[in-house]
Amino acid sequence: MEAKKQFDVCIIGAGVAGGVLAAYLGKHGLRIAVVEKNLAEQERMIGELLQPGGVIKLHELRLEHLLDELDAQPIEGYGLFMHGDNFKITYPVYQGKVIHGRGLRNGKFVQRIRQHILNMPVVSVFEGTVKELQEANGRVTGVKFITRHSEEEQQISANLTVVCDGMFSVFRGQLSAAEKKISSYFLGMILKDCELPFKNHGHVIVAEPSPCLIYPISSTETRILIDFPGNEAPRKSAELTTYLTCTIVPQLPLQIRSSFIAAVAEGKFKVMPNHLIPARPFRKPGVVMIGDSLNMRHPLTGGGMTAAFSDILNLGKRLIALENFEATEPIDKAVQNFYTSRHKQNATINILADALYGVMQNEDLKIACYDYLKSGGKRALEPISILSAISRDEKLLLRHFFAVAFYGVGEIIKPFPSFTRMGRSYAMLKNAVNIVSPLVMNEHPGLFSRSAFRMAGFYFEP
Ligand SMILES: Cc1cc2nc3c(=O)[nH]c(=O)nc-3n(C[C@H](O)[C@H](O)[C@H](O)COP(=O)(O)OP(=O)(O)OC[C@H]3O[C@@H](n4cnc5c(N)ncnc54)[C@H](O)[C@@H]3O)c2cc1C
Repeated sequence: MEAKKQFDVCIIGAGVAGGVLAAYLGKHGLRIAVVEKNLAEQERMIGELLQPGGVIKLHELRLEHLLDELDAQPIEGYGLFMHGDNFKITYPVYQGKVIHGRGLRNGKFVQRIRQHILNMPVVSVFEGTVKELQEANGRVTGVKFITRHSEEEQQISANLTVVCDGMFSVFRGQLSAAEKKISSYFLGMILKDCELPFKNHGHVIVAEPSPCLIYPISSTETRILIDFPGNEAPRKSAELTTYLTCTIVPQLPLQIRSSFIAAVAEGKFKVMPNHLIPARPFRKPGVVMIGDSLNMRHPLTGGGMTAAFSDILNLGKRLIALENFEATEPIDKAVQNFYTSRHKQNATINILADALYGVMQNEDLKIACYDYLKSGGKRALEPISILSAISRDEKLLLRHFFAVAFYGVGEIIKPFPSFTRMGRSYAMLKNAVNIVSPLVMNEHPGLFSRSAFRMAGFYFEP
């Protein structure tokens, strides 16, 4: 397809975020250009469990049908496993309806989204790599890209450019002040012929030294992700094979061990970094970021796609409400309002992901969290309503986070408080405050939250 000159919106990247945004804006009549560096299906181990909150957002975008024909598996809740014990929690109902999450092949999902936008007359898709944002008088006016096959340079002009180039974004640096931190790495494998202990559930193995995640991604395949804390990626080696077979296998549920051992022997695995990137965008006229280029959190809770769909609905509604797409000032105002309001939907997703990952790294908190959730009732239902992104109530999240810490204190000081037990409790509480306070501050860079958490830091020095 030849590059046309002027579009309303130019989207960089046709991944989950860019593709769904194009579909939504195109459906409302905006003229969209999408530039994607590689339109072929990729074998990816990211974005494979969509939480019910993400399914709800796709429904609100009227794009739920994008989940059809993928052999996606309904996810009904989570099973938790620790030290040979286990239990399950079912997702809560939403407005009287049971909404399942989905386990899917990300590459297939992205291709289905792309096929959908390729069929939309108002969306033009170009295969090429964007090299540069074009600017005039301090405003981004479009992009320059190199086509994939002919390697020609082409340009697109648009009144708004949306950067959706994913976790390795090359434009993040010039559009935001975000600092990138790698919390850990996930080593991922696909298990075949694997019968899960809890059918159609995500499985969290609260393992030593770090958690493993397991969930179905098609009717014949199951994904396992094994966490490696720190910022050094695991590499294929005899040592790694020994670690997987001797340290991880004994902690896995019996039913899946043989498929796991077969997958290790096959040696087909991928490794991905798990980032923490708080959203810190600069207000630059003519451009906005969405998806992983803007904001990332630990993938332990599978919140990335749900956060992206929430942002698409927020920004998309503001853009389609504009009277026309010629005047640039209202577009910039819509972008500004999107940036200032997005935390209302995404704070719980972001805080929970890295707070839970932090809890998993502390022996006492990890046990407290497992036992707290296992005790059931509201202690299970409310936290899972946040994990599923059905609830976005930040106060509720913080209440349960600290309730877990105090539950842990109660367990530690049993049967009576001694100096050693009090010391251990204090260390655990201090760790809990140190885990959650920077995460809350990331979501609310405002004065009040900073002061409140600085005061907490005074008592629980980092
Ligand atoms: C290990 C791991 C597991 C995860 N698991 C889950 C999960 O279970 N559930 C969940 O909801 N989230 C999960 N996530 C997060 C989720 O994958 C992301 O939030 C989501 O994919 C973000 O979508 P995106 O469109 O921003 O990026 P992507 O889907 O990566 O899309 C970016 C697109 O931009 C294109 N691109 C890049 N640069 C250029 C350029 N210069 N020019 C043109 N095109 C370009 C790329 O080719 C790609 O198609 C996981 C993340 C990781 C790391």
